[in-house]
Amino acid sequence: MSKMQASLTTPVQYLKGVGPQVAKLLRKLGVETVEDLLYFFPREYEDRRHPTPLNQLKVGDQVVFIKGEVQNVSHQQTRKRFSILKVVIGDNTGQIPVVFFNQPYLTNYFKPGMKLFVSGKLEVNLYDGGMELSARDYEIDTGETPGIVPIYPLTEGLYPKTLRNLIKRTLQEYLGQESAIATLHFPDDPKKLAAARYKIVFEEFFIFQLGLGLRRQKVQEEKGPVLSIPDNSLNAFIANLPFKLTTAQQRVLNEIKTDLAGGRPMNRLLQGDVGSGKTVIAALSALIAVQNGYQAVIMAPTEILAEQHYDKLQKLLPELKIELVTGTTQKKRKASEFTEPDLLIGTHALLEEKVKFRKLGLAIIDEQHRFGVLQREKLQQKGVFPHCLFLTATPIPRSLALMLYGDLDRSVIDELPPGRTPIKTYLVPEAKRTGAYEFIRKQVEEGRQIFVVCPLVEESEKLDLKAAQEEAEKLQKEIFPELKVALIHGRLKAEDKNRIMRDFKEEKVEILVSTTVIEVGIDIPNASVMVVEHAERFGLSQLHQLRGRIGRGASESFCFLMGNPKTIEAQERLSAMVKTTDGFKIAEADLRLRGPGDFLGVRQAGLPAFRLADIMKDQKILEDARKAAFDLIAKDRASAHNLWESQRQKIKVPQTRDASLN
Ligand code: ADP
Ligand code: MG
Repeated sequence: MSKMQASLTTPVQYLKGVGPQVAKLLRKLGVETVEDLLYFFPREYEDRRHPTPLNQLKVGDQVVFIKGEVQNVSHQQTRKRFSILKVVIGDNTGQIPVVFFNQPYLTNYFKPGMKLFVSGKLEVNLYDGGMELSARDYEIDTGETPGIVPIYPLTEGLYPKTLRNLIKRTLQEYLGQESAIATLHFPDDPKKLAAARYKIVFEEFFIFQLGLGLRRQKVQEEKGPVLSIPDNSLNAFIANLPFKLTTAQQRVLNEIKTDLAGGRPMNRLLQGDVGSGKTVIAALSALIAVQNGYQAVIMAPTEILAEQHYDKLQKLLPELKIELVTGTTQKKRKASEFTEPDLLIGTHALLEEKVKFRKLGLAIIDEQHRFGVLQREKLQQKGVFPHCLFLTATPIPRSLALMLYGDLDRSVIDELPPGRTPIKTYLVPEAKRTGAYEFIRKQVEEGRQIFVVCPLVEESEKLDLKAAQEEAEKLQKEIFPELKVALIHGRLKAEDKNRIMRDFKEEKVEILVSTTVIEVGIDIPNASVMVVEHAERFGLSQLHQLRGRIGRGASESFCFLMGNPKTIEAQERLSAMVKTTDGFKIAEADLRLRGPGDFLGVRQAGLPAFRLADIMKDQKILEDARKAAFDLIAKDRASAHNLWESQRQKIKVPQTRDASLN
């Protein structure tokens, strides 16, 4: 391919030196085009200007880098067909055996006298107790001035040098050597590297924040319906609730009231831990809209949740005309014009184009991180800029909040209603399982109900289902033949799911076995025990959500984490659950252990896939970029807009998987 035709979208296999084999390996790493390759940044760097003298090597976690001369080479074939190549290297301070596993072709490559750079980990040889270097990478020392060498993520069969040389050639051909991107691959000094990294990360954040800032600005310039309510009328309503609002609920309600009456569309995130009482705030907000002659909608991520909100809000707001709108109800209904109801409660079925409202004034979206930005916008377009309130139980740290909800105002319910007995959480090893079952039997005798959640199996819904089915059968036949055990899972039709949930609610079922479909928002105050099978397979936030299903009534509740965590990470996770019920502490631990992607499920979160930026590590740069973006919008809206339009395609925001919504 001639240089004239070369472009960033050229598939890598057309590059010189890349055959089908290498192209396939690169694809495994997510590299398909020249652009992908240029943005395939090193995981770390090796500073070859400072090799460690051999007499100063210490066993440890870190990769060390040495320089020396080959003294002798020996090759061993073990019985299990492992190949071990041992190359003794020496410098003027000492010597060390360097071990290459399963690379027998190197046996005739290394010759005594050869000068080498080698990197790897220092380990103790279990047979003779001596130290050896388990090689990760090597290179012949050609006597040129050594520099800082990039270490790339690799896949089996792809050699560091192949990738390094390929990237070097591609940079020369496409970018020259002067760009921040080139510096990031081949820095000649740590300061320049840091500056290049800052520049690229800043740019990634800046563009994204520019988009958020412009959207925020746009909404703020729109007119929103003025929804106000006389204080005495709202207070009379609040006085009739079966409970007194907490201080936090009252504060948040005031913030919402101010927004609704302000003439601009509200765009507010309401954060509150599971069980903090967000639903009643949603109900009061809806009431204000309806009293002003507008309609309100509440959208939930699943049919079960929508039904549950529907039941609850009918009780809380008996004077309102409320209608349920889900995939199931839509099948039965012919017309999709909703002029009658004051309040519509439903799933993403509410987003369908044919669904028409009379006069939408307020949209409330529950467990909002399950909805992507696009879906958010779709709903907003249904009214003439209705007020929007997003509810979430995920305690999101500031940096993440700036990314996900940087265009929203934020209210927090940081207090639980009084009188809750803290949930007791236990880690239950296999040996104590029988005891746990006896405990459960007693709880049921006292009139309580039980959740049993079965684990995720390798992202396969089929296997999940099988595990849950077997568990339900075992519990029904062998352990609790005298009780009624039911099974609920994601593959069931919505009607069946709803029926099972209703049976559980009406206490026709004592033990409900499920896959993770009950994770979000289900409210069964009579349930007092949550059993999580193979708890070590769940993430912390997931466990927290699951545990939030109990402890909702007046009686004491218990969470049994069944399992035998083998890794240190899993042990830390489960012990965090045993130690605290504070959602913010758990979220922090979760972020630390897993990183933001898994924390929210990147695909569901609408979080852009940054190429270099790391929202946890680069918080400072994020704040800088946000400030710069918002300053530019304030100073020169037109150029901010042009810049955003020309750069926005660089941001890859994954769309929410529709399948996960039901
Ligand atoms: P979440 O914030 O997780 O959506 P809910 O709105 O479902 O929580 O509330 C959890 C439970 O607490 C419900 O049963 C609700 O009726 C009750 N509740 C809400 N606010 C209060 C309050 N101020 N005092 C007592 N109970 C409350
Ligand atoms: Mg809720």
